[in-house]
Amino acid sequence: MFSPLVERLIRSLKVLPGVGAKTAQRMAIHLLERNREGGAALALAIQEALENVGHCQVCRMFCETGLCSVCAHPGRDKTLMCIVESPADMLAIEQSGRFAGRYFVLFGHLSPIDGIGPDEIGLPLLQRHLAGGEVAEIILATGTTVEGEATAYYIQELAKSSSVAVSRIAHGVPVGGDLEYMDANTLGLALSGRHKL
Ligand SMILES: [Zn+2]
Repeated sequence: MFSPLVERLIRSLKVLPGVGAKTAQRMAIHLLERNREGGAALALAIQEALENVGHCQVCRMFCETGLCSVCAHPGRDKTLMCIVESPADMLAIEQSGRFAGRYFVLFGHLSPIDGIGPDEIGLPLLQRHLAGGEVAEIILATGTTVEGEATAYYIQELAKSSSVAVSRIAHGVPVGGDLEYMDANTLGLALSGRHKL
């Protein structure tokens, strides 16, 4: 029913998470009929981000400058590294205002069934940080899901060959809950009440 270019636009929109055929169709019609300018800006933003955004050399957060703004900040405590599953978790902790160290973003958790092993979540880089001598303590802030706990345990074992102290984010984290959904105060308490492993 739609022309080839419209069909292609609809098909392309379906790569977005949570966007099915109906939603993609609505989006395409909206862009073409109501907001071509916004659509052009969206296309350009996607293209430029895909071409230029890479990962921070220290924490793996998205950035286009080699070092992200947190890692490049001279006021951050380089001896403290908080390990999180996602950029959203990192942002949630940042917004709590209770953490002045650096982060390490896994972009997921260990999940052998899905083919996600240590390499896929950046553990070789983390191991270099552990061996580098700059980091004195890592805080495991992975989720309390089975996978999150397994990932925390794996990293804890990795750290045994180094002199780095390991702690786990404290209670108050709802079981199976993502950090990003916690309020800043609970998250701050969870961080300051972390326990040594
Ligand atoms: Zn960084």
